[in-house]
Amino acid sequence: MEMTAAIPVRKTTFSKLHEVDFNHLEFGKYVSDHMLICDFAKGEWRSPQIVPFANLSLSPTALALHYGQTVFEGMKAFTMHDGRINIFRMEKHYERFTKSLLRMCMAPVPKDIFVEGLMQLIAADKNWVPKQPGSALYIRPFMYASEARFGVKVSDEYRFIIFSGPVPGLFANPIKVKVERDYIRAARGGTGFAKCGGNYGGAFYPTQLAKQEGYDQVLWTGGDNHEYIEESGMMNAMFVINDTLVTPPLSDSILDGVTRDSLLTLARDMGYTTEERPVSIAELETAFKQKTISAAFGAGTAAVVAPIAMININGIDYRLPDYDSYSLHNRLKDRLELIRSGLAPDVHEWNCIIG
Ligand SMILES: *Cc1c(COP(=O)(O)O)cnc(C)c1O
Repeated sequence: MEMTAAIPVRKTTFSKLHEVDFNHLEFGKYVSDHMLICDFAKGEWRSPQIVPFANLSLSPTALALHYGQTVFEGMKAFTMHDGRINIFRMEKHYERFTKSLLRMCMAPVPKDIFVEGLMQLIAADKNWVPKQPGSALYIRPFMYASEARFGVKVSDEYRFIIFSGPVPGLFANPIKVKVERDYIRAARGGTGFAKCGGNYGGAFYPTQLAKQEGYDQVLWTGGDNHEYIEESGMMNAMFVINDTLVTPPLSDSILDGVTRDSLLTLARDMGYTTEERPVSIAELETAFKQKTISAAFGAGTAAVVAPIAMININGIDYRLPDYDSYSLHNRLKDRLELIRSGLAPDVHEWNCIIG
């Protein structure tokens, strides 16, 4: 990689660090002192800068507000056991960001701006990376169409921003999910594999209906008759059936989760069989009846794993067995945490250590 000149940093004169109670973090509540900003116009990315976190100013005609060209990423930085800071799987997040941007017809960010910008930003806010086990600095790179023009068009101007904020480790209680067969999150040929804002906007209403029925999330389905499982809420869906870790295969309607990939890799390292293949609702029903399913969970950066206690299929509630610390998803999560903290060897080179 070419070395970019150091990115100019304008330091805040009013750090908010003292306002944070690191022992009682809440997801999404605090933002770190600085953010990276870089603008695209006239066909090129101009000089990135690190500035104090502040509100944006944008025209009411900014194209993103009307036609939905917005893409984001979600990743984490950790304090390792020796005190160094590690941005987990930065390159894979960069690659996915680029894929999402291309699908949304947006200008990809050059890798050196993303990588150098992110590393310098986290270095500037290094005191914001929590040290409490399980907690992390959540990093949110995103981009929106900033061109001020209200006719329908592909934007010629974009703003790329990265900000971050400390978040707690989420010890999620097992949730109840409902197999959703009326609404869909994504369709073949659509934008399901892209991390674009609209995918979330479109998912809220069906999720709210499921909540009114007493469920925490929906299990999205796809295929011609909605007969195959796609994702669990905004996480990848994983199952343990016959002691095999099973998850739907990547497609244009499933997001290529970094956690999904990490857990599949670790399961194989630990000697488990993994299968990336379609999981039908009929298979799940049979697996419940024959008691061959031992776990179901969502996989994603925020919680790593979100265990599922109950799945409603066609109006019937099926219970998963109780989980304990030996359950595969908990062992995978523990293993992942050991690698991130530097206590287990990082054989897949996932840690990007910034000192
Ligand atoms: C972000 C996201 C995931 C999880 O991806 P990670 O890289 O593991 O955080 C899964 N599904 C959807 C729809 C997502 O937006």
